[in-house]
Amino acid sequence: MDIINLSGWEMREKLLNKEISSREIVKSHLDRIDKVEENINAFITIDKEKALKDADMVDEKIKNGENVGILAGIPIGIKDNIITKDFRTTAGSKMLENFTPIYDATVVKKVKENDGIILGKTNLDEFAMGGTTQSSYFGPTKNPLDETKIPGGSSGGSAAAIAAKEVALSLGSDTGGSIRIPASYCGIVGIKPTYGLVSRYGLISLSNSLDQIGVFGKDVRDAVLMLNAVSGHDSMDTTSINNDIKLDIESLVDSLKGMKIGLPKEYLDLEMDPKVKEEMDKAINILKDGGAIIEEVSLPNIKYANEAYNIIVCGDASSNMARFDGIRYGYRAADYETLDELYIKSRTEAFGDEVKKRILLGTYLLSGQRGDEYYKKAQKVRTLIINDFNDIFSKYDTIICPTATNLPFNLGGSRPSKYYNYNEAINLAGLCSISIPTSKGDGLSVGLQIIGDRFKESNIIKAALAYEGMVK
Ligand code: GLN
Repeated sequence: MDIINLSGWEMREKLLNKEISSREIVKSHLDRIDKVEENINAFITIDKEKALKDADMVDEKIKNGENVGILAGIPIGIKDNIITKDFRTTAGSKMLENFTPIYDATVVKKVKENDGIILGKTNLDEFAMGGTTQSSYFGPTKNPLDETKIPGGSSGGSAAAIAAKEVALSLGSDTGGSIRIPASYCGIVGIKPTYGLVSRYGLISLSNSLDQIGVFGKDVRDAVLMLNAVSGHDSMDTTSINNDIKLDIESLVDSLKGMKIGLPKEYLDLEMDPKVKEEMDKAINILKDGGAIIEEVSLPNIKYANEAYNIIVCGDASSNMARFDGIRYGYRAADYETLDELYIKSRTEAFGDEVKKRILLGTYLLSGQRGDEYYKKAQKVRTLIINDFNDIFSKYDTIICPTATNLPFNLGGSRPSKYYNYNEAINLAGLCSISIPTSKGDGLSVGLQIIGDRFKESNIIKAALAYEGMVK
């Protein structure tokens, strides 16, 4: 049996049936890592010994007839902006190259409580700022579907690690598309949950009101398994909702008959790669054949989403980055005379260009009168966008669009001018959304994005499961 080709839930089933051991599952993935990781660079840090020890503990529990958690024995990657106790956490930055946290993020605690096996920390754009995983201090990650291409980002390592079969499940974070874009480019499933469904405690913040920890899996079932493991109320995160929504996958396997799906005309107006357009047209027909009712809808204010997003993300990033001052965390310059020089040199030497750009822009945007002029205005635009979505969700169950309008570009390249993505609007409105591959063929993948209202994960999962069941 080729263990690495199984999905996470299949691994767990075989483990519980005593067909395979947790050690065998982990060992087969570590062997795979030995083979491909040097080339793919999905990880920043891997701890093989610890993973094998954890696997043995799960085997011991099973041997003793003890209950095991829902992630029992499954190899997992954690994006390296999510902190892990006694395990280096870098956020892809020189600033935190030697930083070892003293506590676990809530999601990491939950992975451990559910007997998941953490193999390592995955690569990302520095502090999650970017969409390509090229701005990491630890070098770029390659797309396992085509190694000349980017994997998308910022959670590119978490997506590539699954696509390369180095782990079965992973965690990422999504501020403006950073789970959905790499899921789309690497041909896997990614879920950005509703804001507040998953605790952000222990996530190194980029933008507090937009960030959401989410999940990756090989298929919809896997992604739901991981989501159920990490979701739930957390008193350490004041924005986490006081409601333990868990998804019952069996009850969501259903036909699409009668599901009302909105197709925003604004997405259709975008310039799209012909392959994306073709795949989207096919996906729409598959959904219609499955019984869904698809109608054109409009999001009139979405055209302002990117500007509003950039103002909010830079403003928030500039204040979040202030804690990295060369004193409390991470890198400190070797030579300095004064306190100011210590700050300046440490930050100059340890931050990359994108981080510096956002600190400068954000500081400018928040200073004096400009706070009202830009940041407050951006928040007002945000309300208009929320209202647009509310209107649609009063009549429709889900909204669909392509996750990205282009295919992944070459490593080393930069965004082609026709690269548009409206993923940011979904974070501005705090909605949930899933990206699933439009087809199961070889070659570069295209993602179908299914968006749901706040805490209506059940709708997007139902649609995604049905689609997955119908697609070839
Ligand atoms: N590309 C977006 C940005 O650079 C998204 C980042 C993210 O979701 N973490 O801000």
